Amino acid sequence: MIQRIWLEAVGFTYPDGVRALHDVSVMLSHDEFVGIVGANGSGKSTLAGLLQGRLAPTEGALRADGGRPFSPRPDTADAIVVVGADPESQLLATSVFDEVAFALRAARLAASEVLARTHAALRRCDLVGLAARHPGSLSVGEQLRVLLAAAVARRPAWLVLDEVGSMLDNQRWRDMLSLVLSLHEEDQMGLVVITHRLEDILDADRVLALAEGAVALEGTVGDVLARISSRPELRVALPLALAVGELVRSEPIRALLTAQVQRAPVAGASREP
Ligand code: ADP
Ligand code: MG
Repeated sequence: MIQRIWLEAVGFTYPDGVRALHDVSVMLSHDEFVGIVGANGSGKSTLAGLLQGRLAPTEGALRADGGRPFSPRPDTADAIVVVGADPESQLLATSVFDEVAFALRAARLAASEVLARTHAALRRCDLVGLAARHPGSLSVGEQLRVLLAAAVARRPAWLVLDEVGSMLDNQRWRDMLSLVLSLHEEDQMGLVVITHRLEDILDADRVLALAEGAVALEGTVGDVLARISSRPELRVALPLALAVGELVRSEPIRALLTAQVQRAPVAGASREP
């Protein structure tokens, strides 16, 4: 299994001329949880498409261990599976079981292998009780778990989640994140979580912030948090506590608070000597 992927000066221009990514040079390591944050239109899903092999770079190259050219293909052991927003459009089968088994059957695995892997993936993603249900009858959170189980059954080298957090309430996103973190840690799947909200990736080992198709910041969550508020052009949604902190430090609010403090009587002051 590949351990590292290098993107070397990668760019991607859509056929209509939109240059969605340019000069992206980053390394993704299998043992890291990498968070990718950026505003709408910054190139995140295009990057996911390149990692998945749905798109091929129009500039630069992808390389894997030992410098070999890397062209991800969904049907190989190098597979990088993207679980993305709009789950309904990705669901094809008439039962959860068939959905999870779909890619395995398409890859012509032996029936016993399909059965074993499908059951294991359903158990892993807590879907055993829903195996006979039609995917269209499930909640969005359950549909995303089905897509995740279908990915897990394929035993991908990397798992990429694209804006999954924005489709779930906070608790369901936390549950999904702890599931993918356990897949990352126990099943050795590389993990990339893509989001426009920094608070979705506070557990990441490393964060890349994209702006206008390029990597604008890279570092630990702490590094990026410390620098991002001075980069409003990144248009990244800050965690609430940080946003409130920024607001409190802003000049008009600070002036207001200072005036309030000066006017307020100090409790217990009359008893001081
Ligand atoms: P994000 O996922 O960060 O919102 P995308 O990668 O989807 O960003 O889009 C990056 C840029 O590429 C945007 O300007 C977007 O309009 C453009 N884009 C995305 N998909 C296509 C497409 N299929 N054809 C043309 N332009 C596209
Ligand atoms: Mg996107």
